[in-house]
Amino acid sequence: MQSSSRNEILNKLYKCNDYAELKTNKARIDYLLTKVIDYDQAKSVLKSNIDNVRQKNGKNLVLAKECKIVADFYLQQVSLGKIDHKYKNLQHALEYYTRAILYMPLFEDVQMFARLYARKCQVHLQLDENESALYSIRMALDILKTYGQNDCVPMSTIMNYTILQVNCLKILSHYTEAIEMIDEMLMKLAKFPELSSEERQIVSTDELMKMKENIQQFISKNNDVKETVTAAAAEQQPNDYFNYRIDHRCLIRQSPVVGRHFIAKYEIPEKTCIYQEKPYSIVIEQDYLHKKCSTCFKELKYKFFPCLYCTEIVFCDRQCFEQLYNLYHHYECGIMSILKSLTSAAVHVFRMVSRISPIVAYQTETSVALEDYSIDDFIQESNQRLVHEKDKTMDEKIRAYKMSSILWHHNTKHSQWSNVHHIVVGVETAIILDLVHNMSLNKSKEFMLNFIDMVVVGIRRIIFNVFGWHEYNEDWSLRGHIANCQCLIGSLVNHSCVPNTNWEFKNGQISLTTNRMIKKGEEITITYGPNKDMPYDRRQERLNHYFFACRCQACLKDALCGYALRCIHCGDDDDNNGPVPFNVPLNNEPVLSGQCLLCFKNIQIFNQTLMNIKNV
Ligand SMILES: [Zn+2]
Ligand SMILES: [Zn+2]
Ligand SMILES: [Zn+2]
Ligand SMILES: [Zn+2]
Repeated sequence: MQSSSRNEILNKLYKCNDYAELKTNKARIDYLLTKVIDYDQAKSVLKSNIDNVRQKNGKNLVLAKECKIVADFYLQQVSLGKIDHKYKNLQHALEYYTRAILYMPLFEDVQMFARLYARKCQVHLQLDENESALYSIRMALDILKTYGQNDCVPMSTIMNYTILQVNCLKILSHYTEAIEMIDEMLMKLAKFPELSSEERQIVSTDELMKMKENIQQFISKNNDVKETVTAAAAEQQPNDYFNYRIDHRCLIRQSPVVGRHFIAKYEIPEKTCIYQEKPYSIVIEQDYLHKKCSTCFKELKYKFFPCLYCTEIVFCDRQCFEQLYNLYHHYECGIMSILKSLTSAAVHVFRMVSRISPIVAYQTETSVALEDYSIDDFIQESNQRLVHEKDKTMDEKIRAYKMSSILWHHNTKHSQWSNVHHIVVGVETAIILDLVHNMSLNKSKEFMLNFIDMVVVGIRRIIFNVFGWHEYNEDWSLRGHIANCQCLIGSLVNHSCVPNTNWEFKNGQISLTTNRMIKKGEEITITYGPNKDMPYDRRQERLNHYFFACRCQACLKDALCGYALRCIHCGDDDDNNGPVPFNVPLNNEPVLSGQCLLCFKNIQIFNQTLMNIKNV
């Protein structure tokens, strides 16, 4: 559905009284598919839409070549000795080589793809960006080695690039690696004595020996020169992988009233990081897709390795690309923009379902096999904590999916209260899943309705269950919205308008840090947005989206100050009676939450009567 036709459908449904009276998702989906749109027609419209977008977002040799010509021109200006605009020309060259890499269809010309990285390396060297130069030439050689096997890459090209890499290594004082590379080249030369004279001209054994001597002399002259460890090597610590980590002083408890929550088992000092988690699912916003690696979510800085098939996302390197492509990107490759136009929650659901396949996801949510599986079971599994998704067995992946689906089961309001928008977007998401996974969803109407219902509930669950990853300026003003993240364990932490911990994201990883000393037995809380500086009404209005009345210190105080009724169940005298607060829903008509903040018992009185009491 194009966005215009989606708006038409939404308007039609908003005005439709029959539709408004339907109480279940399935009835609403059925109404949409029988009275408003035809499934097959909607599917064929979406299919042609997907084909168009895939084509547009696909690699394009012509565009790549055009960018390369522009880049070559700027680089040429510099080599011709035009000093005036040297810096500017180099910057332009860099920009266009980068663009060319983005558009370049690797499999149509592996050598050109590598050449673009090699040129980029030369530009970086002239700009004195040596780490970036080393990175680029490594990419060039890696590409030739990985994809160039059947391509008869001339020995001279590999030699040329290797010498460029040796130079970068030398500048960055990685001498040992530089000498290793020279030794490798010497061995290759010895192995292929039949090189043509042309190739011999580029590099000879004598020259290589001279280069090696030169570096060795340099080392002995500067005996105290310490080799800088490459950043990449320092970053790699394969043994400390985790999906989440919780401080031993924290405990996850279950209560019939507030559900799962974190408490302090022992006293925890201020400024302690008590929990870290790599989200189960992250959807990066459009503006950040070329700034963050889509696999490890680190800032890309000088790194730039695009998906080899679409122009939509970028990675640190080939390893990050291959990992994500195999996990789930091959399903969404080229159509991210379509999925995103639905809502980022739809992208989350699309990915989560694609990762284990839509049918398995459906079975996981409906079959009895995992019926007993609980949040506690998930927490007890060490593999869910310590094994990377790419190394998980299918069973482990299914249980992680199950965990995400049971996070909100204790609150069925979420499943029932899906608005028109969720229904329409859910139907669209299901059709795209149908197309991508060849499901033939409409073979059985019952299954189709159930499946779409699952997608709709999933979308709703995500909307209320994600953390926003933001970027701030130095004065703490908002710089940008980076991504939405679903954290399986983080979702268990409850809200308070005066939270005792602050949460933040770094490299796609959330962490909680205490903002004061937390006493033994105290609940650990974060804010879902509202804080004590907002007026009571405004706070409750926002928290109403999550279907609970906040019982934090600030809300309790405000509720006792008149923004609430007194509970008839608890307390001996009037002063001890718990408050039953008013909620302020979207239409600004205050209604009673019905639940006492202290004893949690429900009070049923007509709202109008309550309004009168409140106004007295
Ligand atoms: Zn990465
Ligand atoms: Zn792609
Ligand atoms: Zn509160
Ligand atoms: Zn009470």
